[in-house]
Amino acid sequence: MDGSRLLGRLFGVRAEQVDPGADGPAEAPGMPGPAGVTVVGGGIAGMSAAVVLAERGVRVTVLEGAPRLGGRLSARPESLPDGTSQLVDHGFHAFFRQYYNWRAILRRIDPGLGFLRPVDGYPVLSADWPPEEFGRLPAAPPANLLALLARSPSLRLRDLRDIDRRAALPLLAYDPERTHRDHDGASARQLLDRLHLPDRARAMLFEVFAHSFFNHEADLSAAELIAAFHFYFLGNPEGLAFDAPDLDHDSAIWRPLAAHAERRGAVVHTGDPAVEVRPGWRVDTAAGRTHRSAFLVLAVDPPALRDLLAASPRLAAAAPVLAGQVAAAGVGPPYAVARFWFGGDVAPGRSVFSGVSRQPTLDSITLYHRLERGARRWADRVGGSVVELHAYACPDLPAPVLADRMRAELAALWPETAGLPVIDLRAETGARAPAFRPGTAAGRPGVRTDADRLYLAGDGIHTDLPSALMERAAATGITAANHVLRRLGAAAEPLRSVRPRGLLAGRRG
Ligand SMILES: Cc1cc2nc3c(=O)[nH]c(=O)nc-3n(C[C@H](O)[C@H](O)[C@H](O)COP(=O)(O)OP(=O)(O)OC[C@H]3O[C@@H](n4cnc5c(N)ncnc54)[C@H](O)[C@@H]3O)c2cc1C
Repeated sequence: MDGSRLLGRLFGVRAEQVDPGADGPAEAPGMPGPAGVTVVGGGIAGMSAAVVLAERGVRVTVLEGAPRLGGRLSARPESLPDGTSQLVDHGFHAFFRQYYNWRAILRRIDPGLGFLRPVDGYPVLSADWPPEEFGRLPAAPPANLLALLARSPSLRLRDLRDIDRRAALPLLAYDPERTHRDHDGASARQLLDRLHLPDRARAMLFEVFAHSFFNHEADLSAAELIAAFHFYFLGNPEGLAFDAPDLDHDSAIWRPLAAHAERRGAVVHTGDPAVEVRPGWRVDTAAGRTHRSAFLVLAVDPPALRDLLAASPRLAAAAPVLAGQVAAAGVGPPYAVARFWFGGDVAPGRSVFSGVSRQPTLDSITLYHRLERGARRWADRVGGSVVELHAYACPDLPAPVLADRMRAELAALWPETAGLPVIDLRAETGARAPAFRPGTAAGRPGVRTDADRLYLAGDGIHTDLPSALMERAAATGITAANHVLRRLGAAAEPLRSVRPRGLLAGRRG
């Protein structure tokens, strides 16, 4: 065992199993007497619920409104001007190693997770300071924190003396209840202000992290930032390391996962959105179909949940608490993704993935041609590159405008890209992320609702299990399936968690 893991062990940082039961994919006994479940939404949350239920012999129907599964992780076919056809992801995704529950779902289609390849390094770039490397820290806390403090040029020993240690303590003492009770009233910006960090450390170590949660710092709850710091950095023995598929998301994940669920009896409908839900449960779709079931899981994105409730007065009357929560929860600001097919390459030493700090629009750069097979084949053939730029919380402007801005900001950081000819560009924006506004945690919708046999899942749905983004979507999806299984008298699917509380939170009870 290396030193950092030993330190991690001493501080009790290891994965914990939250629900009792066997580890790994459950080869559970079949359920007697099928009870139907309709799952609306075929992204990570909905498909995680559907896979678990179908494996237990529960009759499950997935209704996905888009032509393909995957939601914000989907991929769609695109034709380039040279006639090449490629499946283009909705955006690059980092599959962190502590995404235990999402990875457990993915193990159903690839037990060794061979399609995930390590993404080496995680530099943060800025126009004002040299890059800061996040990726090559020791994996386990507190060694990673100590190494970051010792190594980072953004924080010197004398800076540490100036940091407000009382303001910093909550970052090390995450507790699912106390953190939200004590810190949800403030914004992430106020929390960072209170730390009194040197400007460079704030920009390079914290702002870039806060930006990754699809919300502006001033509108993001400080409690959510503390929870994310715990989940990504201090609460897990894997560190900030992540992997990414070497194939597009449709080929690597969604087609195999749908086939896995269908082999176990699940029915998956795509391209037909739910338009109204009635208690009972009954779901009407745009194509005029009606699906009836004993249980309903709504696993749609936040604006879709808001719209579905608005279009379902009988559902809103049967679940008044839920209706109020969804109306108050809100939706995060727009994000932008621009994928450039360039007629030349960036400098050889550039990292596959880089975070960007303090640019007005650009938040990350991904070199798809050094990551994904389809993009690599194209780039090798034409001597080009496939570069994807993201803005995680941006102004509400047309996608081509945001793509132009991000490209100009890229050229300021990597001057060699300024002259690269653009062979093709796919630019899009979306506003489908959850909002985590200060003061809203207590009223956020959870997996259980005030309507009988109606459950929610998704990355905007509250859970005490430390998680975010893809992992929260999977964890809430499995939790929704577990509620159904318990009602049917079946054993729950095991859920795994990073350390549930912070290093300095003390033990409960
Ligand atoms: C550009 C980008 C980059 C990202 N990078 C990362 C990353 O690096 N790491 C990470 O962990 N996360 C990342 N995320 C976040 C991640 O994609 C989401 O957290 C996750 O995909 C959410 O899954 P979900 O199932 O909750 O929601 P969604 O993926 O939004 O799925 C909801 C589904 O419901 C469907 N739907 C909506 N309305 C209806 C209806 N009426 N009827 C039927 N179906 C309906 C939608 O079409 C969709 O398929 C990124 C997101 C984006 C946009």
